[in-house]
Parts: sequence; C-alpha cells; structure tokens
Amino acid sequence: MSFTLAIVGRPNVGKSTLFNRLVGKRLALVDDQPGVTRDLREGAARLGHLRFNVMDTAGLEEASDESLPGRMRALTERAVGEADLCLFIIDARTGVTRQDLVFADILRKRANGRVVVAANKAEGNAGDAGFYEAYTLGLGEPVAISAEHGEGMDELRAVLEPWAEKF
Ligand code: GDP
Ligand code: MG
Repeated sequence: MSFTLAIVGRPNVGKSTLFNRLVGKRLALVDDQPGVTRDLREGAARLGHLRFNVMDTAGLEEASDESLPGRMRALTERAVGEADLCLFIIDARTGVTRQDLVFADILRKRANGRVVVAANKAEGNAGDAGFYEAYTLGLGEPVAISAEHGEGMDELRAVLEPWAEKF
C-alpha cells in the first residue's frame, strides 16, 4: 500500500529540505516525462517503516513577485489534485504570514480535509510561538518538525501513519 504526499507551502519554508530528507537518493527523474515539469518533483519517501510517494512543489522559487500568487495557486491546486494527502509547511520561526493564509484558503477549499500542517524550523525554542499560531489556520493540529535537523520525524510519521492505511 502506498500513498502520495504533496509538500505544499510558500517559498522558503523548507519544503525541499524535507523532500530531500524523506527521499534521500531515491529521487525519481520526472523532468522528461510528458506533462511533468520541474515544478513538481517526485520521489520515493521513507520515514521509519513508512513508504510512500512524495511530491515537492518546487516551481515557485523562480517566480517574480507579480507572478507568484497565480503560480502558487495553480501549482498548489495541481499538487492537491494529484496527491492523496497534503503536508502544508509553515515556518515556525516566522509564524503564520499572509501568504500562508492564501495557501490555507486553497487547501480548505480543495483538499477536502486531506491536510496535515507542519511547523518547520522548530528546532530549539525559536519556533514555539509559530507552532501555536499554526493552530489558528483551522486545518487541524500541527506537528512541529525541523527538516534540517531531522527533529519531529517520529511525530510526523505517527501523523501520516493513519493516512497510509487509508490508501
Ligand atoms: P522551500 O523554498 O520551501 O523549498 O525551502 P528550502 O527547503 O529551500 O529551505 C529554505 C531555507 O530554510 C534554507 O536556507 C534551508 O536551509 C532553511 N531550512 C529548511 N529547514 C529548516 C529547519 O528545519 N530549520 C532551519 N533553521 N532552517 C531550515
Ligand atoms: Mg524548494
């Protein structure tokens, strides 16, 4: 049994860092497949004993300020459509931003409750306030992680586990 997890969220919250940690070297080269762009990177993820497919929404970094909102929306909606579950990342050190609220709105409308919120960069105590702010998104209980330092990975696995059983 396997499911597809899409990592979504605004630029710079740590999506690709988490993707790389989950995938390691098991990255699927999808660039040359028809209909697949660099905007969605896909790989085989491993988290403890869990195995699943993971998608990184990677196409936002090069967007200009003007093109960013439209691209965020389009890319996120595509990822939501292709994935079984979305992992919505916010930066716990920054707290919830206006851009985060745009994503939360898209996910509320499109993802049908198939969302897990993760407050990244939560190593140490610098992310505590941002973690609690993440509750105000109204998308369920957040999980605190540090993609860079590998913290909170057991908690993340525990949250994803019930979803793995559904698909
Ligand atoms: P993306 O744009 O959402 O894909 O974000 P990236 O994965 O490229 O990361 C953006 C920046 O945040 C980089 O400088 C990362 O090193 C940093 N970063 C990612 N995860 C963490 C984390 O857990 N803690 C801290 N302090 N920094 C992180
Ligand atoms: Mg990225």
